[in-house]
Amino acid sequence: MLGLMQDWPLLCHKVIDHAAQNHGGREIVSRSIEGPIHRTDYKTVRGRSMQVSKRLEMDGIVIGDRVATMAWNTWRHLESWYGILGVGAVYHTLNPRLFAEQIIWIMNDAEDRFLFVDLTFVPLIETIADKVPSLEKVIILTDEAHMPETTLPNAVPYEAWIGEVDQDFAWKEFDEKTAAGMCYTSGTTGNPKGVLYSHRSNVIHAMACVQPDMLNLSSKDRMMPVVPLFHANGWSTGFSCPMVGCGMVMPGAGMDGESIYDLLRQERVTMSAAVPTVWLMLLQHLEKTGEKLPDLNRVVIGGSACPRSITQSFQDTYGVDVIHAWGMTEMSPLGTICTLKPEYEDLSGDAKLDLQAKQGHPPFTIEMKVTDDDNKEQPWDGKSFGRLKVRGPAISASYYKGRGAEQFDEDNWFDTGDVAHIDPYGYMEITDRAKDVIKSGGEWISTIELENLAVGHQDVAEAAVIGIHHPKWDERPLLVIVKKEGCDPSKEEILGFMAGKIAKWWMPDDVVFVDEIPHTATGKIQKMDLRETFKDYRFPGT
Ligand code: ADP
Repeated sequence: MLGLMQDWPLLCHKVIDHAAQNHGGREIVSRSIEGPIHRTDYKTVRGRSMQVSKRLEMDGIVIGDRVATMAWNTWRHLESWYGILGVGAVYHTLNPRLFAEQIIWIMNDAEDRFLFVDLTFVPLIETIADKVPSLEKVIILTDEAHMPETTLPNAVPYEAWIGEVDQDFAWKEFDEKTAAGMCYTSGTTGNPKGVLYSHRSNVIHAMACVQPDMLNLSSKDRMMPVVPLFHANGWSTGFSCPMVGCGMVMPGAGMDGESIYDLLRQERVTMSAAVPTVWLMLLQHLEKTGEKLPDLNRVVIGGSACPRSITQSFQDTYGVDVIHAWGMTEMSPLGTICTLKPEYEDLSGDAKLDLQAKQGHPPFTIEMKVTDDDNKEQPWDGKSFGRLKVRGPAISASYYKGRGAEQFDEDNWFDTGDVAHIDPYGYMEITDRAKDVIKSGGEWISTIELENLAVGHQDVAEAAVIGIHHPKWDERPLLVIVKKEGCDPSKEEILGFMAGKIAKWWMPDDVVFVDEIPHTATGKIQKMDLRETFKDYRFPGT
């Protein structure tokens, strides 16, 4: 017997309908690519998204077509998303920080027909457009007055293009399992793999994200997604903010510490989300200027492990709560969030910081388990670690065109490639990427833990740990350090600072200083490159 409830498909554009109807006047403030601060609201964004849909339909875009975007976070990017969704096409976010060859490969794999692009990236697209035969039209996210001279065939200014139609459009209706969005994993090894979100998965994921023990988003918040919409589905902000009618403050191309600070202050932002490197820049700016953050009450930090020193600085110096989060492109992307359950509510000082170093607990809709090399499930005791596997309605069931099938098992468990343990209250902690973990004398050493500890030293700007071959132990840790400007710590000082805080046999065998540590397109330490740089390195005496 079936239930007698309505069939109301979970379609993404219903989210913007809700926002426009119930929170129509709530502000969306953006630092425009042209320069000035721009203000709009959900009602206006919805209307203009309908123009995008209508205009796309007029140009022959139909359900299932892939429409790419390469853009910073602004109101126009958001309108493009909803316009693409409303006509049943698939938004495909491109990360401009990837190498041109990778972008070409990804666009060809996805067979993108149209591209919405910011002024910033027009020169980049000019160099690659003729290598993407499927690309028919480029919509430049600006008005006629700012339209650049371009060699791109079929390039139009967004404002004039949507200005050719009115807002009289009815969103398309279709099955909630229809593809909605596409995002490629950065593919640190091999070619990138396409993740294909559905309308249903995006809506369910956003509903999970806004919950009190997760992002705790509400109409009273003014949220600044510093994390770009092109990084892992924008961490849900494109859907979770309008879903609860929370105001949005979009940083555009201004990603440096000062620009972020200016918007946080001027627009009285209450919460924000970004990767640790962005927060490091902001904290350095605050340290230099002595400025404070009176309106900001919490920040979400994820994408890579959040160093303890960042958490401490935000909380103790600026009174801003830190919410450590973990996720993956394949998970829409949020997987766990480290907010405090009643069991941990009374923690303070170091004990609280220890807990906040964990990646946290999952919302309803995400199942987790940790398995050993024989696929045996490990107990939730906070120490038995192994491969972290997940499943749920907003987690990939497979990659585009069937790639990477080995990461999924027959019961739908997706192997994250992360090594973790889970405590009795459901708090997961990542100890490493499976491919980065150091195997010393048959035991595992967590590179993340060593890095977090090393950046806690006052003279260290950034730290990375890699395994180097050792004749006796197989592999031992090498600590690679970038010094803070104007500081000159010695090897002995760094090791002395770490001693006693970790097991003796975890201590790095050596420390080397470099000017720069390589990063991936999403701001993570590029361990593959580091391993290549140090492939001939040998520990003293070996
Ligand atoms: P990309 O490499 O393109 O940024 P993802 O965002 O999907 O792709 O990367 C997901 C991976 O990032 C996770 O599997 C994990 O290894 C790492 N990661 C994300 N958040 C955290 C975190 N809070 N702590 C440690 N690692 C993290």
